[in-house]
Parts: sequence; structure tokens; C-alpha cells
Amino acid sequence: MRKICRVLLSGLSVLCLAACSHPSQPIQGVIITGQNNHNWPVSSEAIRLTLEQSGLFAMDVAVSPAAGEDMAGFQVDFSRYELVVLDYNGDPWPEPMQRAFEEYVNGGGGLIIYHAADNAFPEWKFYNQVIALGGWGGRNEAAGPYRYWQDGALVRDTTAGPGGSHGKRSPYLLNLRRGKEHPIMQGLPEHWMHAKDELYDRMRGPGEIGDLLLTGYADPDRGGSGREEPLVFTVQYGSARIFHTMLGHAGTSLEDNPAMQCAGFQTLLLRAGEWCARGCVTQDVPADFPDAEAVSLRPAYREPEQQF
Ligand code: ZN
Repeated sequence: MRKICRVLLSGLSVLCLAACSHPSQPIQGVIITGQNNHNWPVSSEAIRLTLEQSGLFAMDVAVSPAAGEDMAGFQVDFSRYELVVLDYNGDPWPEPMQRAFEEYVNGGGGLIIYHAADNAFPEWKFYNQVIALGGWGGRNEAAGPYRYWQDGALVRDTTAGPGGSHGKRSPYLLNLRRGKEHPIMQGLPEHWMHAKDELYDRMRGPGEIGDLLLTGYADPDRGGSGREEPLVFTVQYGSARIFHTMLGHAGTSLEDNPAMQCAGFQTLLLRAGEWCARGCVTQDVPADFPDAEAVSLRPAYREPEQQF
């Protein structure tokens, strides 16, 4: 599938479209969660609802022991899954779990890095390659360059400074960059309003961004960096399909959760899930996708029934 879809990028789209069919069986995936400086019971359930209610995915949820408890027995059988969603920011995984994760990624697995998962594991070299950019956890210039978008290019800034910060939460505009032809972005508008969320800035890391899909302007009036920050991208790492979204700060409940209720956030999650697992995307642009003027929310974590 991957070979055929690469042909798409060189122009022979018919071949890829013919090979890309709606999954006849739900994609088997797992959400890894259980420790986070965020409300992980809300975020993991919002992710599960979004993915499963589409009918495209069947998700397990792997919950770690609580912070400070014995992690030795925490193990996920990655061989059972086509898609792994990381919603974890906490104590180091035990060695066998780390090795199994490395094997999964090195074997070409599908992986979504969600929001504060890129705060996790500042000392784990492999992990930091795989997420490409991370923040907090003591990260600074030693963690890698600060990447931001300027004058049509991704800057690689090695100046000393902290890695990871964000200003006050608000709705903000997302801007399509190099990923216009990426299957995840097919047909989506070049600019659209994301619902009230954090905007991660000054993120640093040693990894390679594959396709930079979306950036957002970190407005200094709200405490941001004043730069156009890479917020959604794929990561270049071997044959793995890796999607990193810094969007989606979890709210206090499923009802009070605008960043994850955003129809744009959910569309990206659904399309990325399919692409990470299968290498192509069969989903149309939903009717409720936000435009550049107004946010669009899905409080039930599903596309509303279309009204005619
Ligand atoms: Zn957050």
C-alpha cells in the first residue's frame, strides 16, 4: 500500500485511489494513557469516542498504573494493533514495554502523538526521535533545535533557551503549509478556526518533520512566542507512519472540552488514524468542517447527521 501511495505523490493518483478502499473491518488500535499532567480520563475517552463512533476503528484503552506505583507489569502487546495513540505523560515505561514500542515503530507501525504525549520521556532518545519535537520536562537547546515557520521555510534555531511553552488558551487560525497533497489534508481548507485550545510554542527536538501540515501563530498578546509554530505534522522515521498533533488540550469534562470537540480536531484524528494504519484516507471532507471565520464543535464526538 505504501509503495502505491508514494506513486500518488509523483502524480499517478488513479493507482492509489484504486487501491485505497474503505476498511472492511474496523482498524484495531490502542490508546495508551493513565498518567498525564492533563485530564487523561477525559482525553482518552474523547479520543475513543471520536474514533469508534466513526465505525472505522475498534480501540482498546491501555491504562498504566498511577504515578509513583510499580510500573513493572505494564505491558502492551503492540503486535495486535495497526494504530497506537499516545495520550501518556508520566513515569518511564518498564524496559520490556520500551523495547516493544521500539520494535513496533521500527517495524513500520502507525502512531499518533497527541498533545502532551510530546512532553513525555525527555531522557528516552528513541522516543524523542519519534516525536521529532517535544517540550517541558527540562528540555532546552540540548534536546534539539527549536523549529518554527518563517518566510516559507522551517527554521532550525539552535539558540539556547527552554523547550516548550504556551500562552493563554483561545480559538486560533490554523494554516496549511507543505502538506497540501498529503492524504490527511485532501480537500481541507488552507485556513480554518480551531476551537479554544493551547498553542504550543518553542518546541524542540532531534527528530525530522516529514510533512508540515499545519502551523498557528503564537500571538504575543496572549503570551505566545510571536512566531508561526508547527502544530500538526508527520514525522520522518524509517518506514513508520507517524502523525503528531499538538492540538487538543483536555477540558474538565467531556462536556467542557472545546479543543477536542472541534470538528477540525476530530477530522484530523480520524483521517490520521486511517493514514497511520493503512497509508491512505477514504474519508470525505465533512459538511461541518470549520472555515476561516468560525469554529465548529461536535459535542457528541461524532459528525452530526446531515440534514436535508
Ligand atoms: Zn495542555
